Order: sequence, then C-alpha cells, then structure tokens
Amino acid sequence: MNRSVPHPTRTVRTAERPSAPAPGPGLGEVLLPGDDGYAAASTTPGKVGRPALVVRPRDTGEVACAVRHARLAGLTLTVRSGGHSMAGHSTNDGGMVLDLAHLDAVEVVDPARRVVRVGAGATWGRVAAALAPHGLGLTTGDTASVGVGGLTLGGGIGWMVRRHGLTVDSLVAARVVTADGREVVTSPERHSGLFWALRGGGGGVGVVTAFDFVAQRVGDVRFGSVSYAPDDAAALVRGWRDVMRAAPEELSSTLVLVPAMHGAPASATVLLCAAHEDPAAADRAVEPLLGIGTVTGSSVATVGFADVLDTGGHAPGARVVARNVLVPALDDAVAADLAAVLAGDRPMALALRALGGAVSRLLPDETAFAHRDAEALVVGAAMLPADATDDAVDDALADWHAVAAHGTGAYANFQGSATDADVRAAYPPATLARLRAVRRAYDPDRLFRGGLDVAPRDEVAARTPEMGA
Ligand SMILES: Cc1cc2nc3c(=O)[nH]c(=O)nc-3n(C[C@H](O)[C@H](O)[C@H](O)COP(=O)(O)OP(=O)(O)OC[C@H]3O[C@@H](n4cnc5c(N)ncnc54)[C@H](O)[C@@H]3O)c2cc1C
Repeated sequence: MNRSVPHPTRTVRTAERPSAPAPGPGLGEVLLPGDDGYAAASTTPGKVGRPALVVRPRDTGEVACAVRHARLAGLTLTVRSGGHSMAGHSTNDGGMVLDLAHLDAVEVVDPARRVVRVGAGATWGRVAAALAPHGLGLTTGDTASVGVGGLTLGGGIGWMVRRHGLTVDSLVAARVVTADGREVVTSPERHSGLFWALRGGGGGVGVVTAFDFVAQRVGDVRFGSVSYAPDDAAALVRGWRDVMRAAPEELSSTLVLVPAMHGAPASATVLLCAAHEDPAAADRAVEPLLGIGTVTGSSVATVGFADVLDTGGHAPGARVVARNVLVPALDDAVAADLAAVLAGDRPMALALRALGGAVSRLLPDETAFAHRDAEALVVGAAMLPADATDDAVDDALADWHAVAAHGTGAYANFQGSATDADVRAAYPPATLARLRAVRRAYDPDRLFRGGLDVAPRDEVAARTPEMGA
C-alpha cells in the first residue's frame, strides 16, 4: 500500500480539520483498520477504540512528524505506551493513536549515579529484566506487561513503594515532543513546570519519548503471601493496619479480601515484598503478619526483584468495574465499612495497599500526585457480565460509597472512568489549577487527548466540536 505523505510544513488549528493527507514515510509503521495488529493496538482493558490510524514511530523524529501530521490533518491525537489504561484513555475513535511500542530501549546512561534512560513504550517487565544484571531495579507497579509511559505519568505504586516511593519520585528528566512538534528535555531545572506535571498529572501535555530515572540498588527480595481464614474481615483489616504502621519501610504489602462469588469461596491474603539487604531483617519484618488472623497457608521465598512482577492477564468476557480511594487513616470505621462491602448483597473484591514510608516524605505540591498523606490505597472491584448496563454498574457500586466517603482522593491510574468527579478526586484544587496552566502553556489548542481531561467543562466544549473523537 502506498502511504506517502508530504512532510507537514505548517501547523493549523486543530478545529479547522483540513482534508487529511495520507499517512506515509516519516511517521514510522502505520496500521490502518483491517491491518494485522491494528485491533490490538486500538484496544485497552477499558475500551475498544476505532482510530483512523495507528502510528508506531521508531525514533523521536518520527514522533515529531506524527504529531505534526495529526495537527495538519485535524486528527484527535492519543498517545499509547503499554495500552493498559483502565478507562480507555490511550485509544480513540476516528483519530490517530500514537503507539510508542518501538521506543522501548532500556539503557544505563550513568552507572555511577545509577541513571537509567527508559523508552516510554517499554513494559515494566522488560525494564526489570534489563536492570537486574546491573544489580538495579526501579520502584514501579506490580505487573510486567504495564507500560512505562502511562504508569509513570500517573504516579506508579508497586512492591517497593514504601521503601523508594512512587515511580515518579525516581524521575530526574524526561524527553517530550510537544504539540508544536519540538523536542524538549525537561527536568527540575529545565521546563520545570512541565516536569512537575509529568510527575503524576496523567499526560495530555505532549509525547514523552523517554524517561531518566535514578534506579535503586536492588538484589533479591523476600516475596510471597500469607493466607488467612476469611471469617472476620474487619479484624484482619485492623490487624494488618497495625502491623504496617509499625513495619519498616522496606516492607510493602497488600491485603486482598475476596468475598465468596462465582462459585469460589471467600479468601483473605496478604501479598508482601520485603526489600531488605539482610534476609534475616526481612523475615523479622514479615513475622508480625503471621499473627493477625488464623493463618491457613504461607509461602514466602527469596527471589530476584524482576521475578516478582505479575505476568497474569485479565479474565476475558467480563466487565471489571473498579473504584479506588486514598484514605488518610485506616481507622476502625473504615474497617467496618469494608467488612460490610464484603458481606453485602453486592460484594466486591477489595485490595488495600499500604502507603506511607517514602511516599509521605514529599510535600503534596512537589509533584502532581498530591496525596502524600494517605495511609492506604483501597481498591474495590466488581466483576460483571461483559454486556452489563450502566444501571447494573451503579447497582454493583452501591455499597462502595460508604468506603469512598472515608477518602481524600483517588489514584488516577486506577480510575476506570473519567468524569468531572474523577478529575476532582485525582487532583485537589491547587494541583488541578497548576495542571491546567501547564496544559494551556504546552498544548494551547488541546491536540493531545487521553488521560483525565483537566480542562474546565466549558473550555472543553468550546474547543471540541470538530474533533474526531
Ligand atoms: C493489569 C494491570 C495492572 C496494573 N498494576 C498497576 C500497579 O501495580 N501499580 C500502578 O501504579 N498501576 C497499575 N496499573 C495501572 C496502570 O498504571 C495504568 O493503567 C497506566 O495508565 C498504564 O500505563 P500504560 O502505558 O500501559 O497505559 P496506556 O494505556 O498506554 O496509557 C495510559 C495513559 O497515559 C498516556 N500516556 C501513555 N504513555 C504516554 C507517553 N509516553 N506520553 C504521553 N502520554 C502517555 C495515555 O495517553 C493514556 O492517557 C495496572 C493496570 C493494569 C491494567
């Protein structure tokens, strides 16, 4: 197929929508509807998109060319790295998906300072495997297939979060192609407002092609799980909370409570990672978790950090509805409301991730992830049939609202929808105002879509009538 295109030489207002030039050389690999790989590159766990084209650049020049092409053609432009957005933020209908899958290099650029440069399209599994031979690792998410781009831009919470903080807390620079097709290097010293926005703001300000992180020295960790009789969920929550309040920062853990559903019995499990240099110290940190309930099994082993990342996938044919809330204090009232969700008529599975430690050492305004005071992140998930209606979703969430009322915000990366309320939950007013200012400065015509739309509704309406999605 001939996909030649004149190199775009002028920019136009995105709303003018000139007739689109055909895509071609300079953009990288181009996938059109019907091509192999098009469907996979247009789909996320939260949405099946139908973009006019998927573009896969092989270098920064091709990224810039694709950005100019989208502007010239008046196409909605959505960036995709790992494609795991639960709310479907990395795909669109009728526009261009800029898929960074080929930009996946992982390089140790300064061994003495442990600075590593990671292509935004890499997955965290690839990053962990590439850094392990250097004795390095990064505080990232729990799942190997998740992309570097989206997880980093939202914050990044994983198995070393209490010891080394969020993924964005290790970020020292990023390369960004902005809406006008320029490449800028951003850091605390250069384009510092943009750098701040990249640390939790969820994207929507440009295409990040590569991130520079200071990696952590990571060898083996103690990793595994402890299972409990699930009969008193509130007591388990209280016991887990008390242990984690006294735990060293090296210990990160998640309490997973699953009600009896779909023919499977209820379960209660703590998943844990003790990232100590000294295995004996790790065991001492884990030991109190054996006393919070009736232990029915435990399996904790010494493994390389790269091996702790989950390689599982999603259950096909189901609509997973997830909500999350960041709670400043996991007090007894929260424990009681969580137990009520599990025992109610519309049970949800719950996962409580302990925060604090290194996360709380930054001030709320230091990054666009502002919820530095949260003691725990609580996620609730209901699994509904794939064709469940919105009314059925509302019904499934009826008991969740009591839990959500204890929170002060939400983690953008775990949000499954993108309403005004979601935006306000993810970003407190001062953070939101600053994010809006950065987006206005770097993308005044709102070329980039995807992520939570932080623009006020009236501004969105005024600028979107002729956009493709
Ligand atoms: C199975 C699963 C497990 C998960 N586990 C964790 C976890 O342990 N910890 C955690 O913190 N999160 C976790 N998440 C949430 C995850 O962080 C978000 O879904 C994240 O957005 C995924 O990143 P991605 O690059 O794969 O997503 P994508 O869908 O590619 O992108 C997500 C968003 O970021 C934007 N974006 C992506 N790359 C760029 C870029 N280079 N430049 C500009 N904008 C960009 C996209 O436009 C979109 O808005 C998990 C999600 C799933 C589905």
